[in-house]
Amino acid sequence: MTDLTPRVHEHASALPSAGLPAYLYDLTSLGEHAAAVRDALPRRVEMYYAAKANPEPEILAALAPHLDGYEVSSGGELAHVRKTVPGSPLAFGGPGKTPDEIAQALELGVERFHVESEYELHVLARLSERSPSGRKPAVLLRFNLQVSGGALDASSLAMGGRPTPFGLDPSLADRVVRRLTDGTYPGLELRGVHAHLASGLDAPAQLAVAEETVAFAEALGERHGIRLAEINVGGGMAVDYGAPGARFDWAGYGAGLEQLLADRPDLVLRIEPGRALTAYSGWYATEVLDVKHSHGEEFAVVRGGTHHLRTPATKQHDQPCTVLAVEEWPYPWPRPAAEGKRVTVTGQLCTPKDVLARGVPAPGVRAGDRVLFSLAGAYAWNISHHDFLMHPRPGFHFLAG
Ligand SMILES: *Cc1c(COP(=O)(O)O)cnc(C)c1O
Repeated sequence: MTDLTPRVHEHASALPSAGLPAYLYDLTSLGEHAAAVRDALPRRVEMYYAAKANPEPEILAALAPHLDGYEVSSGGELAHVRKTVPGSPLAFGGPGKTPDEIAQALELGVERFHVESEYELHVLARLSERSPSGRKPAVLLRFNLQVSGGALDASSLAMGGRPTPFGLDPSLADRVVRRLTDGTYPGLELRGVHAHLASGLDAPAQLAVAEETVAFAEALGERHGIRLAEINVGGGMAVDYGAPGARFDWAGYGAGLEQLLADRPDLVLRIEPGRALTAYSGWYATEVLDVKHSHGEEFAVVRGGTHHLRTPATKQHDQPCTVLAVEEWPYPWPRPAAEGKRVTVTGQLCTPKDVLARGVPAPGVRAGDRVLFSLAGAYAWNISHHDFLMHPRPGFHFLAG
């Protein structure tokens, strides 16, 4: 199995040993993937990118031509994305927004607020009274909705459909909408509804979420005699770490959304994927330092580890990888090598949790051989505990052309 692009394969082979570990991003394949996703979606579906998946400036910029905006979830992301891709519409989400962050968002003229609580609505209403822009902030109310038929059950990262700190409880919907329509908050414009309920959902489950969210928003709007014109149905499109060649069924999802839009000429749907956009375009490249035999198992210890690529530790999976054999061995001492067919690939940290992949088919793998971990373009470097043990940071290479 190899899902390396030729650019990544060539670059990973050419890097000197001292240049490892390194993150390699293929910006050309990222752009092609994002364009294909965009093409699979109906025109009236806007696509925002959830910046938390990977906020590297080069990644944000490479995605820009294929996006309608970015979803940011902190004052830090807000400032960073505004500066990196100026002029792109932003939606500010996330629980626990501070008054300072909300004031900063108003100052930067953020286009949309995904409001997660009544408290937050109070703060936003009060601070927007003295907002310099004079524009009414647009509000999408985030709800923690239940989805029938068990659509959320497959997710290991469910943020909705059960007790969580995310979004408003649906039981509050009428009270909150009343306040937004009876003059209590004259400075705010209620634009629509937002629901991001889980990560790792396949297309049928995502469509169930979208249908449920649209039905909820329509019923809510009807009860209050208003039109909720924008409905954000979230991100969370699945990435299968056991099958790096597989892709979310964007065509099926797009067709389903098309049907939802068919009888609703005024509705704008929005999605905000992160992982399923960038995961496939990043690799973590490193080399084997040592091969060890321990109580009947073999371990390949690589330069770096989960302090650079925390994804397999946090998601408790085996990160897919490819071994590139390196023939030279420049040292006068013997070259460690595996005797069996499968190894566990671990890093340099002094903890048994520093495991990148188990059961990797790598017969005879030797110290000096290179290992490239795939699906490392999302929730990889930026979620890792970089400073633990004070090993050097990896290199970063953004490849294109
Ligand atoms: C994390 C997050 C996303 C993106 O989720 P992915 O699984 O990366 O697609 C979108 N919206 C919200 C509100 C999020 O918290």
